[in-house]
Amino acid sequence: MPAKKYDYLIVGSGLFGAVFAFRARQAGKRVLVIDRRAQLGGNIFCANIAGINVHKYGPHIFHTSNKKVWDFAAALVEFNNFINMPLANYRGKLYSLPFNMHTFYALWGVTTPREARQKIAEQTLRAAKEPQNLEEQAVALVGQDIYEILIKGYTEKQWGRKCAELPAFIIKRLPVRFTFDNNYFNDRYQGIPVGGYNKLINALLDGAQTKTSCDFFADRPCWENLADKIVYTGEIDRYYNYEFGKLEYRSLRWETETLDCDNYQGSALINYTDAAVPYTRIIEHKHFEFGAQPQTVISREYPAEWREGAEPFYPINDAKNTALYNKYAELARREKRVIFGGRLAEYKYYDMDKVIERALEIGVV
Ligand code: UDP
Repeated sequence: MPAKKYDYLIVGSGLFGAVFAFRARQAGKRVLVIDRRAQLGGNIFCANIAGINVHKYGPHIFHTSNKKVWDFAAALVEFNNFINMPLANYRGKLYSLPFNMHTFYALWGVTTPREARQKIAEQTLRAAKEPQNLEEQAVALVGQDIYEILIKGYTEKQWGRKCAELPAFIIKRLPVRFTFDNNYFNDRYQGIPVGGYNKLINALLDGAQTKTSCDFFADRPCWENLADKIVYTGEIDRYYNYEFGKLEYRSLRWETETLDCDNYQGSALINYTDAAVPYTRIIEHKHFEFGAQPQTVISREYPAEWREGAEPFYPINDAKNTALYNKYAELARREKRVIFGGRLAEYKYYDMDKVIERALEIGVV
């Protein structure tokens, strides 16, 4: 059999594909990266509007406790000192996130950790001992007030499902602290690439062969014949022609506006936790990079039901979808020349650092 033109065809130029491509090229492999979108970078791509890096596919804040991952990324780009300190707006009143002493003070007027713990203890007294869903988990963790004001509306909007029908693990992502600390993440390292995320993608794909606006499925046999191995980062059910049925996703859409003011909300992220407000949050992009431009760009984020053709952003890891995914994963495990990686191919609620970690873990052979 004549040698193939490439060692690896990488389908998708998001973080997983780009990190894998970088490693493969370091190992001397011939790689081709293709992407169905008109630009590279997957969901970390930023569009430049009014001199501001606009997170076109949702706000991305890089944070990790994994030194290996941090060192890998920080060797490619410089990170700024952005710390995510979002706020929640509930019926016109602002609360600090994640749940911490500032939040407890705003809610109940308590000024010491002891009073705050006591308040939460009173509210969690009758909570489920072994929470079975997000509602029970949230009440057990922080009590009824916080659940009603800061969690219920936001979560039900975001997922389009009742909190009682959602898995408990989603809410465990959020820290609860008895210190005056508004840092949303507990991780050791955090920041945004100076100059935006496109710098990271460009560094990862520097010198690699890439093709945009290229749909793998438009000419699958041709692409498959081009390389010895394939790294596939798209939806796993599509790869297998939906043979066991379709996985469900949660989608998002943004209404983005350029405003003639230099500072609209004073924070990169403000969540709207009342169910009556149709969007979940407003992103003011310039604050990710401490921008001093005369204008500002804001995006209202609306959760959306996923239909075919829409962008699949979040996997829905409920029992039904997980069982279906496991069937596809079994097929994937048997593949000899295909590697599946990233949010869509692994149907996993992955943070950026975990995606990088996984891509670094998979050896290039
Ligand atoms: N969440 C909430 N209120 C908020 C922010 C988050 O109830 O103001 C809950 C919600 O259920 C969400 C989960 O916490 O799905 C995880 O939030 P995170 O910010 O980690 O989600 P991401 O934006 O990273 O996907």
